[in-house]
Amino acid sequence: MLTRRAFLASSLALSAQPSRPNLIVILADDMGYGDIGCYGSPDVPTPHIDSLAKNGTRFTDAYVSCAVCSPSRVALLTGRYQHRFGHEFNSGPIEREAEVNFGLTATAKIIPQYLKSEGYRSMAVGKWHLGVRPGYHPQERGFDEFFGFLTGGNAFITQQTPTGRAIGAGGDGGRIPAKRADPIRRGNEPVEESRYLTDAFGDEAVKFIDRNKANPFFLYLAPNAIHTPLHALEKYIDRVAGIKNEKHRFLAAMTVALDDNVGAVLAKLKEVNLDKRTMVVFLSDNGCPVVTGAGANGPLNGEKATYYEGGIRVPFIIQWLGRVPAGKVYRKPVVSRDVLPTFLAASNIQVTAKFDGVNLLPFLSNNATPHEALFWRAGKARAVRKGKWKLLEFGDLLANLFDLESDLGERNDLSAKHPEVVKDLRADWKKWSDEMAQPAWPPRFREITVNGARLNWEL
Ligand code: CA
Repeated sequence: MLTRRAFLASSLALSAQPSRPNLIVILADDMGYGDIGCYGSPDVPTPHIDSLAKNGTRFTDAYVSCAVCSPSRVALLTGRYQHRFGHEFNSGPIEREAEVNFGLTATAKIIPQYLKSEGYRSMAVGKWHLGVRPGYHPQERGFDEFFGFLTGGNAFITQQTPTGRAIGAGGDGGRIPAKRADPIRRGNEPVEESRYLTDAFGDEAVKFIDRNKANPFFLYLAPNAIHTPLHALEKYIDRVAGIKNEKHRFLAAMTVALDDNVGAVLAKLKEVNLDKRTMVVFLSDNGCPVVTGAGANGPLNGEKATYYEGGIRVPFIIQWLGRVPAGKVYRKPVVSRDVLPTFLAASNIQVTAKFDGVNLLPFLSNNATPHEALFWRAGKARAVRKGKWKLLEFGDLLANLFDLESDLGERNDLSAKHPEVVKDLRADWKKWSDEMAQPAWPPRFREITVNGARLNWEL
């Protein structure tokens, strides 16, 4: 039995604890549905990411809002369709980001801005890709701290990085740069950074948690792993030395590095006794670009930049010990736009803002369906997921209807067999699309062949 003094002391300790849960998003870059252990990779060891699935809920039908980096991040951070802000297409190329009218529009309110008044400290670590001009920096958009880079891609190593190795993939020549084209910044100050970038981002995330263990925090850890270029350290390559295909071995080494750093974040939470007070969401910003020959989308068709499942269905896991079911596999469609409403509900923060996502927490323990339908649009490419049906169209060049329950790999076009379903889904899509704004800047183009169709995708 507790003495009165001990009881008072424990009550005081409890009342001194922050009342809001900490919130962490770990956003992998270009990680495909088949790239990690808990989503079926046979040869990439990811024990720490897998532990999130073991201790939390893993989603089989989780989508991102776009098949390329920047628009996908807008939807994740705003809880809304990126089209509402005209952010239909990616930026770039990198050298043009400063000259085109590109970036997260000023009216878009993002996660840290909802949390600030509730006492949360926030930090963005890693790749930003939401604008490089003045006014677009993470610390001008609600984050208290930033360590990372502003554009859409970067070298993981420089010639100053010990034991770094590079291999060419996806048009990159396998060169190790003397310095990065886009500097790493602490705040807005460029800094010399010779650490392997994934390790640097993991270290900074761990230090942020340590600095903020006495107050609620939001950590947006968005490393550019496992996006190209294929850069790895010897120590990570050694751990996947049994993989024969060299490009896949490099990507696996980059994934092992990411997994180690996820492990470091989880270990820090445990060390400072915050593991039960922290919701961790892990996801990827889009599917794997299989064109590089390094990664995989498992059983899914298509790849990054396309609206086949391989472009938009991604690993997605939520861990919140004692609050989100552990070891559960959730099979109804969800989307990255759900993260912000889920965070606000977890933190018991009431807002009047309207979201296109929903709070997922009640759905994890009832039979209701979070979304009647999900929609995609990038120029001529359009898609709808409704129940088991997926309609994918590209201008008047392509109209495919797939039954994802019986045909996860999107091989059997059923549009001729079920014209009434095509008609209904087209009507749903048009109603949605009519609500959206027009693109604020033009697309780039990439020719991609899927199911024998050579299409000039706009991205
Ligand atoms: Ca990406």
